[in-house]
Amino acid sequence: MAREVGVSDELRGWNWFKSPLKPYYSDVKIPMYLACSKYCPTNRDVFLVMVEGEKGHINERVALGSAVHRAVGKVINSFLDGKEVAFESWYEETLRELRVKQRFEVVKERCRVVWNYTYVNCRSRLLSRMSEQPYSSLRDSLATSIPFLVEHRVTGGLLGLSGFLSIDCYDYLRGIVYDLKVADVREEWFRLYPTGYAIVLESIYEIPVDIGCTVYVRFQGGKLVVLKDLFFINDDLRSWWIEERDKKLEIVAQRKDPGLPKECTLDCIYKGVCRC
Ligand code: SF4
Repeated sequence: MAREVGVSDELRGWNWFKSPLKPYYSDVKIPMYLACSKYCPTNRDVFLVMVEGEKGHINERVALGSAVHRAVGKVINSFLDGKEVAFESWYEETLRELRVKQRFEVVKERCRVVWNYTYVNCRSRLLSRMSEQPYSSLRDSLATSIPFLVEHRVTGGLLGLSGFLSIDCYDYLRGIVYDLKVADVREEWFRLYPTGYAIVLESIYEIPVDIGCTVYVRFQGGKLVVLKDLFFINDDLRSWWIEERDKKLEIVAQRKDPGLPKECTLDCIYKGVCRC
């Protein structure tokens, strides 16, 4: 049904060179995570990172989110490459790369659960496809049972975004952009991430990308829970993404401190440098 509904052409990524997709402030660029973020009620995090150069303090929530993303990416990409990777050595290397100094034992255990879950899923999908298509080559079976570009690196420069973006997952058979969130609460604004990535993919490959999916990873009493929020990337979401991007580009271009909100996000990583 969603695929029968139209999207305004001016909101397709391939129209990056004209309004409303063309950024008003063309001399500044921001990372996707800040363009979409609504963790800080006044967007002061954008000012702190982009104008003041603050890095924030990695807490357990951020360490878990980053490590889980990497675990999923590593397992799927190694599986597609036909390589085995040991969890323990991968985990130690990941902590070093993320510059996480605290041990956060719970992060390790949860990562291990996600690692095993992802591997078993990959294996099951492949075996199922091979049993359905016995004449396919291994390469064909892999490409159709796990049709994912994981941590796909693209540039969002045409849309005012900085650096290389890493898209959690793009299903190239069905044209779905996945974004993983380690979160207990569902947030409407999490849909901005797949929306932004879809627009970027459209700006580069000039193909329509209409479906997004936020994959929620939760842990309830030690058990892994995975929920999916699948949605149509409609005009409203696209316009919302553009509005958020423009608001944040303005903060950076004008070096405008948006000030403190009445209440801060409980575990904001900038509390130490922003509000005690
Ligand atoms: S401490 Fe408060 S004002 Fe500062 S970035 Fe975090 S949420 Fe925003």
